Amino acid sequence: MKNRLRILFLASEVDPFAKTGGLADVASALPKSLFEKGHDVRVMMPKYGSISERKYVLRDVIRLRKLSVKMGAKEHIASAKSAFIPDTKVQVYFLDYKPFFDKKDLYVDQKTGRDFSNNAERFAFFCRAALETAKLLHWEPDIIHCNDWQTALIPWLLKNEYRDEKFFSDTATLLSIHNLAFQGNFAPESIKDIGLPQALVKEGGEMEFYGQASFLKLGVGSADAITTVSPSYAKEIQTPEFGSGFDKLLKARSKDLTGILNGVDYTIWDPEKDAMIPVNYTVNNLQDKLENKRALLKQAKLPFDESVPVIGMISRLTEQKGFDLIEKIKDKLFERNVQLVILGTGDPHYQNMLETLSKENSDKLALFVKFDEELAHLIEAGTDMFLMPSRFEPCGLNQMYSLRYGTLPVVHNIGGLKDTVIDIDKDSSKGTGFTFDNYDETALLATIDRALALFGDDKSWLKIVKRAMKQNFSWDSAAEDYVKMYQKIVSGKRK
Ligand code: ADP
Repeated sequence: MKNRLRILFLASEVDPFAKTGGLADVASALPKSLFEKGHDVRVMMPKYGSISERKYVLRDVIRLRKLSVKMGAKEHIASAKSAFIPDTKVQVYFLDYKPFFDKKDLYVDQKTGRDFSNNAERFAFFCRAALETAKLLHWEPDIIHCNDWQTALIPWLLKNEYRDEKFFSDTATLLSIHNLAFQGNFAPESIKDIGLPQALVKEGGEMEFYGQASFLKLGVGSADAITTVSPSYAKEIQTPEFGSGFDKLLKARSKDLTGILNGVDYTIWDPEKDAMIPVNYTVNNLQDKLENKRALLKQAKLPFDESVPVIGMISRLTEQKGFDLIEKIKDKLFERNVQLVILGTGDPHYQNMLETLSKENSDKLALFVKFDEELAHLIEAGTDMFLMPSRFEPCGLNQMYSLRYGTLPVVHNIGGLKDTVIDIDKDSSKGTGFTFDNYDETALLATIDRALALFGDDKSWLKIVKRAMKQNFSWDSAAEDYVKMYQKIVSGKRK
């Protein structure tokens, strides 16, 4: 067994270069952890127009100045630059092709609010360009770790178009699903533009999904192994209720499907060292957490009162994240002695609903409609509770961040939330937060009420806060699980 693996890690977003959600956090933290374990890991992502070459010191790579990528009848001439993930030696290659990636936005055109019409081409190009880049670098990966639909063509490409290329003959593939709701489904005609055979989208074809061409389906069928981001979600997605149409396909591969819980990058998310919050604190000086609450409420233009519990949310404003339940409880919620700070962007319906609500309750609710990393850290540090009533949740990161910041999570008992938050009433010696089983407004409100009641009991609250802060979800053990998985599929390949 090889001790030092060459791992090519592909993702459409990597923190801090480009981020819309949890994938970016994982795509930065997991390679860092693999690197620290001694593996030769390299990351590739598209060079979006929003990525500053100066800020991140992107450099030309002589070998990658001319990258020829053939797709269908066309040949695209691209290039690639490289940089390190800040404060590390993990190398990231930025695949630079202006016709596809010069826009600021990643997937959705902010001007129209719709997905870019050429997303199939953009990300098929990304997959092909990544393989060509590895070849130009003369760097044969043992593993290509693909993440989500944007990279899901790779396993099929290796087993078909690249089948006879010696360069990749020992390369195994792993596909990680970060959210099954995003599948990369396109009109079947798009298959021509991305240079794949028409047979793939015929009824019953490897890529055909309810009449569409699905990147994710092709990946699920052809990857050597599949992971998802928590053990509970790995089980849930094999059921019709949470399978988003993929349950049977996943069940058919259940032997090769594993849930590995995401970790937390505690160099970024720890109140002891967090450079983005006004006052650092630890379990031993929790009074300093209060200073963050004061600073947050000032920024949120809400009155400060130590005894009033503040609930935080940092989230995409979508139904997945439970905003339909928030809408149902909104009037009753603000009858309570509570304040809310919400940071998010997303569905205009929920944005309008929350904007109206914040006008009606201007001393109780502050809404920030933007993507703001620094404010996200301040909310973690400055609130007392963190609300994640997600309908489904592959892993969820903010509940784990919240635990470390002593901000007790109130969550739906599902997916990764179930795997990380223990209800205090179900287990008084291990409990770290508040969970509800039934996805409905009565259960949610009752659970918020339980949290508010306990907040009134200083001594008990403090005890749980301290316990929460001591939880450890570091990447170290998750990265170890990935390495075991890599070893398994690499040795399977070489048998
Ligand atoms: P998902 O990937 O489904 O959106 P996760 O909980 O896995 O949800 O990860 C979300 C990540 O994105 C977290 O790091 C969270 O702090 C961040 N995030 C989400 N919305 C915003 C926002 N409006 N501003 C800053 N950070 C945000």
